[in-house]
Amino acid sequence: MYRLSVPPAHYPFFEIVQGYLNQAADVVGLPDHVRTILAEPKNELIVHFPVRMDDDTMRLFKGYRIQHNNILGPFKGGIRYHQDVSLDELKALAAQMTWKSALMGIPFGGAKGGIKFNPRDHSEDELRRITRRFTHSLSSNIGPSHDIPAPDVGTNAQTMVWMMDTFMNTGGNNEKSDQRAVVTGKSITSGGSEGRERATGQGVVHCIREWARDNRLNLEGATAIVQGFGNVGSHTAGLLAKLGVATIATGDHTGYLRNEEGFNAPKLSEHVKAHGSIEGYPRGEKISRAEFFETAADLFIPAALENQVGAAEANALQVKLVAEGANGPVNPDGEAVLAERGIPIIPDVLANSGGVTVSYYEWVQNRNSEHWDVEKVDAGLMHVMRRGYQRTMFFAEKHGIDMRTAAYGLALESLAIAYAERGIFP
Ligand code: NAD
Repeated sequence: MYRLSVPPAHYPFFEIVQGYLNQAADVVGLPDHVRTILAEPKNELIVHFPVRMDDDTMRLFKGYRIQHNNILGPFKGGIRYHQDVSLDELKALAAQMTWKSALMGIPFGGAKGGIKFNPRDHSEDELRRITRRFTHSLSSNIGPSHDIPAPDVGTNAQTMVWMMDTFMNTGGNNEKSDQRAVVTGKSITSGGSEGRERATGQGVVHCIREWARDNRLNLEGATAIVQGFGNVGSHTAGLLAKLGVATIATGDHTGYLRNEEGFNAPKLSEHVKAHGSIEGYPRGEKISRAEFFETAADLFIPAALENQVGAAEANALQVKLVAEGANGPVNPDGEAVLAERGIPIIPDVLANSGGVTVSYYEWVQNRNSEHWDVEKVDAGLMHVMRRGYQRTMFFAEKHGIDMRTAAYGLALESLAIAYAERGIFP
């Protein structure tokens, strides 16, 4: 009945995230009016914009920016370039940013945006023009105190620098350097933070360390399988290797590879940067998607896209822990199977919140014209991740619930206090 060769069929991501919200709202006794407000994004912006291609033809693109909530601070969230980007997906991802910031005590709200296209089909010049024109379309709806984009799937530090430069050059005021804080995840030379590029992977690894300590798993000599070898997957694998954890299987949109001795993450990363994928990497045996999920290991880190682990994948997995580097990688069917099999999940809103945490540090540095040492960034991130993990575990144990519901519950408690204090305007 189950197939492992392709991901589960498309699913209603936003409805699923709202399901988690409702479950957690019952646990914390969230007032009905707050639940109603949080059930929809505050603003949903869709733009269409023309871009000239290298061959002089014109193509019209569809871009989105979903601003879910800003009661705890400016809207904050990534920009995704992918052919499957949709309103439903971005609404779900924007809502998750609200829960993530609230859970971690970061004074930001939640947003997400993107363009529906495959960036791999375009030259660097085209990507630059697409990014600049998209930023221009959004310009009156983003800003350092209002809505702050960051990288996500298909975008990177270069994309953020183009966004920043366009915003600075098209805005009508002379406080130019203050405008650098309009995006985070920039290169260091253009105002980025030390430690930001690897921050999401670093946060995943802090969570895994906490879990391993609580559950007496010796990471030295342990093994992992990592789905996705982009920003989050490659940094997670590289940082795990430093703790003695071998990544013995990995995969991306082109296929899967196994190496029983463990991949050299920096080398594989170089290959991905040069060739756009893991395909053709010589130090690994080609395996199927099914064989990837069946590979016995201590840890599984999904770090690609949502909806990758359904019931079939959850039944196949031979691991002790799933740490969600990606947003929404385990669907509710997969989650039910994992729960039945006693395999815990460190949920996305906790596990991958290192990205937004160091984005916050970058934003603070830009606003104060500072540049922090990497030691300061890393120490701050470790503190926030450990605190987030421990608070979530404590809340889960206190209420007898799983970590995802606990993470949502803690986020909702903060949001409920803010709504109680501020009331509903007017
Ligand atoms: P990325 O574009 O750098 O990498 C994405 C990876 O997923 C690539 O290796 C790609 O080949 C792979 N992939 C795409 N489709 C796939 C498929 N069908 N099967 C297997 N692999 C596939 O993106 P990223 O920034 O690493 O983001 C990955 C996940 O982490 C996303 O869910 C994103 O929302 C989440 N996330 C990212 C950050 C961040 O700071 N970049 C922060 C929090 C969460």
